[in-house]
Amino acid sequence: MDAETELGTFRRYRRATMRFVLTHVARVYVAGDSVEDARHVADQWAERDIPSTFGFWDDGRDTPRDVANQYLHALEVLKTGEYLSLKLTALGYSEALLEELAERAAKRGLRLHFDAMDPDSAERTRQVVTAFAARYGSKFPVSYTLPGRWARSIDDAAWASELGLPVRVVKGQFPEASALDPAEGFARVIDALAGKASHVAVATHDVKLGETSLRRLAEKDTSRELELLYGLPMRKSLRSAAELGEKVRVYIGYGRAHVPYAVSKVMDNPKMMLWMARDLLRL
Ligand SMILES: Cc1cc2nc3c(=O)[nH]c(=O)nc-3n(C[C@H](O)[C@H](O)[C@H](O)COP(=O)(O)OP(=O)(O)OC[C@H]3O[C@@H](n4cnc5c(N)ncnc54)[C@H](O)[C@@H]3O)c2cc1C
Repeated sequence: MDAETELGTFRRYRRATMRFVLTHVARVYVAGDSVEDARHVADQWAERDIPSTFGFWDDGRDTPRDVANQYLHALEVLKTGEYLSLKLTALGYSEALLEELAERAAKRGLRLHFDAMDPDSAERTRQVVTAFAARYGSKFPVSYTLPGRWARSIDDAAWASELGLPVRVVKGQFPEASALDPAEGFARVIDALAGKASHVAVATHDVKLGETSLRRLAEKDTSRELELLYGLPMRKSLRSAAELGEKVRVYIGYGRAHVPYAVSKVMDNPKMMLWMARDLLRL
């Protein structure tokens, strides 16, 4: 074996070992597989006056019916002031399943939020949300996600503001052709929403970006909160929000697919391991 092949094998081995260890560590740090696990974590945050949103993370084994059942169950378990985050792609865009969810959400007066998935799903999701808002707007709120790295998000921001939809701004996990810088794109979307949106969730663990976004929205008197993902480091973000006097919400992901997500985030940025360790000790 030459030196280059040996180095490649070593790196693959090191990555596999890291993934194995992190998967076990992440099981302690993320909510768990069931909505009851998410409820347990949400109740702990609620003691600190921090509300939650629940998001079931499906994997390839879940059918749209399975996913809808998970969402229906969550709609029973969520409390006032919390909301459900859903993935339209995981429901196979099924109108019948959405109808069931709408009925349950309306009964409980809970908000349904549409997470952003791959760019190909964006237009269809926007159409569904438009129809949804027109049909159910008065019964319960619907909200939408704007990824900063997508060029279309500026136009989507104007559309959401016009409809009065609350929005969540994220950097975005899924790139598209325009290849915008996610942080710059995030700031542009915040600018487009300031003074116009009904409510903005600033969803980032990037402390500086979170601060500038919240300040920008405050200048224009726009309703806002910082939203953090349970399972990523959050101690610095929580401190910064407290210093600014801003509200915080936690997104609690659960289900089999959530642990692999948290692990891949840390693998992409190994410094996060240190932040997580500090957070675990101090939170
Ligand atoms: C609530 C929420 C909902 C989301 N929903 C979606 C969605 O629907 N669709 C989607 O595509 N994506 C979603 N995402 C994921 C998002 O798009 C990003 O992939 C993810 O949040 C990582 O980007 P970031 O902005 O949080 O921070 P990163 O790009 O990971 O950057 C983090 C940076 O913050 C700093 N930092 C953070 N914590 C610490 C610490 N403890 N100590 C020191 N420095 C620190 C560091 O400078 C670091 O570089 C969501 C994220 C959140 C938080």
